[in-house]
Amino acid sequence: MVCAIGDETGKIFEQISIPTITPEETVPKMVEYFKKANVEALGIACFGPIDPDKSSPTYGHITSTPKLPWQNYNIVKAFEDALGCPAGFDTDVNGSVLGEATFGQAKGKKCVAYATIGTGVGVGVFIEGKLLHGMLHPEAGHVLIQRRADDGYPGRCPFHKNCLEGMAAGPAIEERWGKKAIELKDKKEVWDLEAYYIAQALTGYVLTLSPEMIILGGGVMHQEQLFPMIRNYVKEMLNGYIKTEEIGNMDSYIVPASLHDDQGIMGCLELARRALKNE
Ligand code: ZN
Repeated sequence: MVCAIGDETGKIFEQISIPTITPEETVPKMVEYFKKANVEALGIACFGPIDPDKSSPTYGHITSTPKLPWQNYNIVKAFEDALGCPAGFDTDVNGSVLGEATFGQAKGKKCVAYATIGTGVGVGVFIEGKLLHGMLHPEAGHVLIQRRADDGYPGRCPFHKNCLEGMAAGPAIEERWGKKAIELKDKKEVWDLEAYYIAQALTGYVLTLSPEMIILGGGVMHQEQLFPMIRNYVKEMLNGYIKTEEIGNMDSYIVPASLHDDQGIMGCLELARRALKNE
């Protein structure tokens, strides 16, 4: 759990990291940190799934997370009760896209998608000034993708074998090739297949969300050689159907995160500002 103190301009004054163990053990340490700083408001961008719907009886809960001690835990209430200040609440990836759209390269854009590809895959969507929730919130890391004929790997998502997360997150790369992603850097076939799968999902996002920019973060995307490969595959998969300035400039359309891995924290500062102003 990364905890930070900052202001509404996105400036981060200090930050600490606390291991995510159990709510009983972890949350009091976080509360203590924020209490000392006497914060006016809090922004929480949390691993999910979560319930971000203010009208729901389980608003503020982390719901069916695989991190078992945190299942059905009301994290918003815990902080609001302990700190007595308003708290904004969203998914970790919605926090990241909000950071990029408020303070980063996506400032001024109407629709932005942010995908983090690491141990799992998460997608946040900023749309017309808000974060997309709808029924729940996007779970676009689990969109189904088509297996390439030469790939015999079965996939490792317990819910769907051939979703993006099951086929292309870090643990799937490691299991398929028998080595950690970082040790596979020079194997072109690894990244070609990876780019092919990521591009399928992104092509779907392009067609359904019409984003003006797609930002890719997370551990797997530290393999920078993926970016040109992904852009080429997306272009190939769209096959000339979408003719916009953005698609014509792939290098500035599918891009790495711009805020030095602070996009999530900066998004939380904006979540806190919005909670304080009741926006
Ligand atoms: Zn899945």
